[in-house]
Amino acid sequence: MGKILLVEPDFPIASKSKNHAHFLPIGLLKIGTYHKQNGDCVKLVRGLKHCVFKPDRILITSLFTYWSKYVHEAAEFYHKAYPKARVEIGGIYASLMPEHCKKNSPFAYVYQGLYRRGVAEKVVPDYSLLPEDLDYQIIHTSRGCTRRCTFCGTWKIEPEFKCVDSIKELIGKRRLVFYDNNLLANPKIDRILREISEYRFENRYKLSCESQSGFDLRLLTPELARLLKAARFVNPRVAWDGSYKDRARIKKAIGYLKDAGYNHTDIFVFMIYNCTPSYKEMRKKLDACRRWGVRVIDCRYRPLNYIDDGYKPGRKPQGKNDYYIHKGWEDWQVRRFRRCVREQNIAILLDLPNRRYIPGCERRKVAV
Ligand code: SF4
Repeated sequence: MGKILLVEPDFPIASKSKNHAHFLPIGLLKIGTYHKQNGDCVKLVRGLKHCVFKPDRILITSLFTYWSKYVHEAAEFYHKAYPKARVEIGGIYASLMPEHCKKNSPFAYVYQGLYRRGVAEKVVPDYSLLPEDLDYQIIHTSRGCTRRCTFCGTWKIEPEFKCVDSIKELIGKRRLVFYDNNLLANPKIDRILREISEYRFENRYKLSCESQSGFDLRLLTPELARLLKAARFVNPRVAWDGSYKDRARIKKAIGYLKDAGYNHTDIFVFMIYNCTPSYKEMRKKLDACRRWGVRVIDCRYRPLNYIDDGYKPGRKPQGKNDYYIHKGWEDWQVRRFRRCVREQNIAILLDLPNRRYIPGCERRKVAV
């Protein structure tokens, strides 16, 4: 029987968000189940802390490449604390930049892709490794993605698209959070959505669902929109990564969701900014969302091999040496775009005239 320590480095995630569905170290929780099933003793630590046992193996996860320094801090800390243990690093950064990872933690073994070619993929994550009970569970109906977007690392880490045709046996909680990269690409998604909409617990409780990634608008149909609504997916998001020219298709996809019964304030559009579409074009995309009354989730682009992000939010200017500023963009545009997104989202939520932000409106609303 081995002693395995699973480590989530001290990533800059606010402690109140650690158990948020978007930040759960789900890969480690699955590896935890796999090793427990094989008779190993497993513990999970989040951050830099000593463990109750002396591990034989230390498995460290990694996330974005620009958070790589936290991974090496953790590797260094645990290597020093348990010099006899074998240190292994896996996850997104390790898969995308294995040489960089090895160079910075030469004592560690570096994994690329899924742990041991996906042995832990078929097991249910071991939520008991977490200090608190969760009111939701993570589900994957697929791994990888059928598309090959240049700015995305998914298909590089998981080149093969694999999916299941049912999730019934996996359901244990009332709230399901889907971690699929492209949920609608699963050819059996209609069957899975029907399964969810018909599912009842013994006490007749129904399920509620959320997809961590945006829905691929090229795959969204009126029928799928209806099935998503019937399966009680909340806050549907469509991804709009391309140019303003795609607006007719986005509008159509949003129309399907509205026709299926979603209110416009429930719908979100994912957008990557500080990337190929210029600032001017991004503002036009943002304005289209204002007209449609849907809110925007913005994501600042950094190249996949970017290892240190020094961006500091706020109004204080920064230069190209501080963080990644895409060709054709400037620091003030990056900041202003972010601010405009937030202000517009407030205006939509508060149903302000023409959905245009009025400075201080949120404070007045609270006072009322
Ligand atoms: S559709 Fe999404 S997950 Fe798939 S390659 Fe493009 S960005 Fe990545």
